[in-house]
Amino acid sequence: MSDLVAPYRRTGTLEGACLCGSVRVTIDGDYVAAVGVCHCGMCQRWNGVVFGCFAASAEAVTITGPVTRHASSEFAERAFCATCGSHLWMRNTQPEDDYEFMPGLFPDAAEFPLISEIYADHAPAYVSLAGDHKRATRDEYEAKNLFVEGDTP
Ligand SMILES: [Zn+2]
Ligand SMILES: [Zn+2]
Repeated sequence: MSDLVAPYRRTGTLEGACLCGSVRVTIDGDYVAAVGVCHCGMCQRWNGVVFGCFAASAEAVTITGPVTRHASSEFAERAFCATCGSHLWMRNTQPEDDYEFMPGLFPDAAEFPLISEIYADHAPAYVSLAGDHKRATRDEYEAKNLFVEGDTP
C-alpha cells in the first residue's frame, strides 16, 4: 500500500464537517490525497452503498463534537456523528493507526482520485467503478492484511 500512496502524500490543512455541522474535523499535517474503496461485507453494511476513505496521520487530526465510536472488530473502530449519523472514519485501534476518513466530509477531497479497490470480487451488481486503479480480490487482500473471519457474504 505504501508504494501505491507515495505519489499522493501531502502536508497541509483540510477541513471537514458532518451533515449537521456538530462534528468538525481538521487535518493539519500529513494525509494521502487519494481514495481507496472496500467492498467487504462490513463496509457494505456500514455505509449502505460504497465505502471509500483516505488516510490522515493521527497527530495531524483534531476532532470536535459528538462522536460515537463503534468497535466493529477486535482491531478497528468506526465512528459517526451522534446527532446526524454521518459516517466519519474507520481506524485500526490495536495498535492505534492513521485515521481513514470518509472523503465526503471534506469539500477539497472531491478532487482526490480513486487509487484502489479491495474485495473487488465482492462488489454488488449496482456498483461498478471505472478506471485503471489497483484492484484486489478478497483472497489477495486477506493474504496480506488483518481481516474479520467470515465477515464477507
Ligand atoms: Zn452531525
Ligand atoms: Zn471493508
